[in-house]
Amino acid sequence: MGATRYAIIGAGLAGLTAAHEIRKADPEAVIHVFEAEDRIGGKLFTVPFASGPTDMGAEAYLALRSGATDFFTELGLADELVSPSGARSLVYTGGELKALPAGGVMGIPSHSAPVVHLVSPETAARIDAEGDAAPIDWQVGGDVAVGALVRERYGAEVVDRIVSSLLGGVYSSSADDLGVRATVPQLAQALDELAEAGEKVTLSAAVKLCEDRRTPRDPGATPTPVFAAFRNGYATLYEALAEKSGADIHLDAFVAGITRDLRGFHLSGPGVSTDGAYERLIVATPAPTTAVLIRQIAPESSAALKSVQLASSVLVGMKFDSDEGLPENSGVLVAIDEPEVQAKAFTFSSRKWPHLGERGGALVRASFGRFGDDAIVRAEEDLLVDAALDDLARITGFDGRAAGLAEIYVQRWFGGLPRYSAEHLATVAKVRDGISDVHGLELTGAWAGGVGVPAVIDHARAAAARLIQLG
Ligand SMILES: Cc1cc2nc3c(=O)[nH]c(=O)nc-3n(C[C@H](O)[C@H](O)[C@H](O)COP(=O)(O)OP(=O)(O)OC[C@H]3O[C@@H](n4cnc5c(N)ncnc54)[C@H](O)[C@@H]3O)c2cc1C
Repeated sequence: MGATRYAIIGAGLAGLTAAHEIRKADPEAVIHVFEAEDRIGGKLFTVPFASGPTDMGAEAYLALRSGATDFFTELGLADELVSPSGARSLVYTGGELKALPAGGVMGIPSHSAPVVHLVSPETAARIDAEGDAAPIDWQVGGDVAVGALVRERYGAEVVDRIVSSLLGGVYSSSADDLGVRATVPQLAQALDELAEAGEKVTLSAAVKLCEDRRTPRDPGATPTPVFAAFRNGYATLYEALAEKSGADIHLDAFVAGITRDLRGFHLSGPGVSTDGAYERLIVATPAPTTAVLIRQIAPESSAALKSVQLASSVLVGMKFDSDEGLPENSGVLVAIDEPEVQAKAFTFSSRKWPHLGERGGALVRASFGRFGDDAIVRAEEDLLVDAALDDLARITGFDGRAAGLAEIYVQRWFGGLPRYSAEHLATVAKVRDGISDVHGLELTGAWAGGVGVPAVIDHARAAAARLIQLG
């Protein structure tokens, strides 16, 4: 019997991780990766600034309680990992910079104290009285929008000033467009538990349950940083995965169609040249693309996946000669109800990451765009840079023009992130059901098991493992 032939569509993190996993298990496997763009990495994209390699897509990953660091260590990249400075983030609301609330879950508090500086006295009183209000009609195992739930229990200020800013930083969507179980699963689980135990289901009680479960830090131990990053950017990771996978990576290969016969899967499309059928196929593209690609081979999954929508955003990376006057914080989230400001967040990268601070000057990433608001993502480059500089000055007082704008990079991410709506998990379950009888096919990517780097890696590894088990 000859070597097993694998095709992978998409050379983003999911596709490359899957390729590496297959190679580890089967040194003889034939692995062909087809990538539509002229480069690998997808939403991981390290740009060569004159001052050093700089990430213009994902910039960090959640290191705490994720297996990602072990995976990177296994790849031989432990020495490339760096920790943040620990500088705090701020939120811009009511025309002022304020501290982000401590405790709670995704900015949702269990009582008013952590958020009193961010909300009106009426809202603070409402939060504290929530436990006495009529219970939430919570369906165990179900999902609702985060925005709808928090708005109903605590009022709009908590959603618009705090929760949407924090969730928007991860998902490029407001809390109204995201599901509780889909994006804050520990809170959904706490609500389930209250309902199952026959206790009164309230938001404050569920958040309190989450807070109580957090393992207190051992005061003597060195705290594990919550986030980590790659010293020279994510290129270190995607290049290592590509190399170690030993896969044959075809760039500028846009897969447009997949068919299947007794010999296996056949791929076609502009720039796609293959030397025959593939017994195993992993589709690692964004949800709408995957929906189109699997139309013939898994029509039910295709139909379900079509409902997944994407959120777009644009990043403006700016390197300044001087950092004088830039706040000593890691960044600012902008409340959704700040009409004067167009940016949704700023990362003060040179403050957040000591290895970037060492380059001298200031490195700042401005981000714009939320789900449902693509117009700004299409704006002309000059307008975006002006908006970034004006908003930065308005929010922090830092005059970027006077500080010497040495380098600028504008990166647009059309459809950069899948929207994890209240229906998302049910959709994903349907998609999985729909491919259960398509032997040799796996689907993976940011829509499948979480958008964060560790979640994408875990899902891709599991998908590859299922195919490897087929022999
Ligand atoms: C702006 C931004 C910032 C982020 N920041 C962070 C962060 O700090 N930390 C974190 O953990 N996560 C972050 N994320 C999320 C994370 O980067 C992504 O979820 C992850 O990289 C997605 O990987 P993927 O392989 O699923 O998809 P992608 O990276 O989208 O890869 C899919 C690949 O498929 C290719 N493709 C598409 N169609 C075809 C086709 N027809 N034929 C062939 N190839 C095709 C694409 O070109 C692409 O290379 C961020 C995301 C964005 C957009």
